[in-house]
Formats: sequence, C-alpha cells, structure tokens
Amino acid sequence: MVAEKGILFILSGPSGVGKGTVRKRLFEESTELQYSISMTTRQKRPGEVDGVDYFYKTNEEFERLIGQNQLLEHAKYVNNYYGTPRKYVEETLEKGLDVFLEIEVQGALQVKENFPQGVFIFLFPPSLVELKNRIVNRGTESQELVLNRLKEARKEIEMMDAYDYVVVNDNVDHAVAKVKAIIQSEHLKRVRV
Ligand code: 5GP
Repeated sequence: MVAEKGILFILSGPSGVGKGTVRKRLFEESTELQYSISMTTRQKRPGEVDGVDYFYKTNEEFERLIGQNQLLEHAKYVNNYYGTPRKYVEETLEKGLDVFLEIEVQGALQVKENFPQGVFIFLFPPSLVELKNRIVNRGTESQELVLNRLKEARKEIEMMDAYDYVVVNDNVDHAVAKVKAIIQSEHLKRVRV
C-alpha cells in the first residue's frame, strides 16, 4: 500500500497582518501539524531560541544554502534573508505528516511554483477589506485618498488571487478558527471513499 503524503499548508499575507500571532495560537491548540522552522540571517530577539524560533545563519551560510539548492523558497525582508529548508518539508510530507509554513508573500509565491498542490491561505488585514469594498461599491467618496491607498494595496490584493483561501484577521480567535476549519476541510477532501 502506498502511504498518503502529508498536506503542505502555507499561511502568508502582508507584513504586520498578524501571521505570527495566528500561527502561534494555532500551534497552542493543534498538535497534528509540523511547523517548519525557517532559516534567517536576522538577529535573534530576546527570548528566541536557535532551532525553535528560527535557525540563525550568517549571510555566508545562508548564501551557501541557496547555492546548494537547500531552500524551498527564500526572500529578503527588511535586509535579512528568510528561507524554508527543503529537506525537512519534503521528508515530513513523505512520511504522511502535514507541514505548516508561515512566510511572507514573495516566498509563498515561490512555494506555489514548486508545490502547486499546497494549500495557500492569505491572511488579510481588515482595513484593506474595507478599502476594497469602498472601491468596488462606490469609488466616488474621497476618491483621491482611496486611489492613493489602493495603489499601495494593489500589489497585495493582486497576490491574494494566487491563494486558495483568504482569511480576514479582524479578530485572532476568529482567524484561528477559520484556519482550523480550512485544515479540517482539506483533510476531508483528500479522504478516499
Ligand atoms: P520576523 O523577523 O518578524 O520573525 O519575520 C519577518 C517576516 O518574515 C514575517 O512576515 C514572517 O512571516 C516572514 N518569514 C518567516 N520565515 C520565513 C521564511 O522561511 N520564508 C519567508 N519567505 N518568509 C519568512
């Protein structure tokens, strides 16, 4: 019998939307997902632990990993590298376990190229939802302001189209509950009858 592979879940979205908070809360409640610990060149923050929060690397080490194709994706964010270890993700999925990534948008789009079968969840800031609704429904009131803000938001909104699900982070409890529901429903979809 061929064992079923695990499912790769990717939680992503614009900076400051609360991805880390949602992910931490999800892992407090769920033991069935395997969190892929990322590599980074950024400084360790107080309280963070190497091998728990991140694997902390120098620039040279990180660039060597890129050269050796050891990263599933990588991106530069605020002058630091961040990346997902390929081997851990592939081996864990092979074992039939689900893997969860929490990464920024550029990296998620790279994962999408290599792992189109992954489940891509976009965490959306509620203020942009309001903005989008205003643009879609009216487009007359304070149009200049709307257009300026839309310009900045457009890139993120366009990227959202590449995702399977959009979760509005208007409240952490609700966002976590929605992500859990997505995980459960993806499992049910893959059950063979
Ligand atoms: P922080 O420095 O605050 O821990 O993370 C900064 C940003 O990097 C967050 O948006 C986080 O989701 C993202 N990030 C963390 N790990 C990875 C990774 O492996 N790849 C990519 N592309 N982004 C990551």
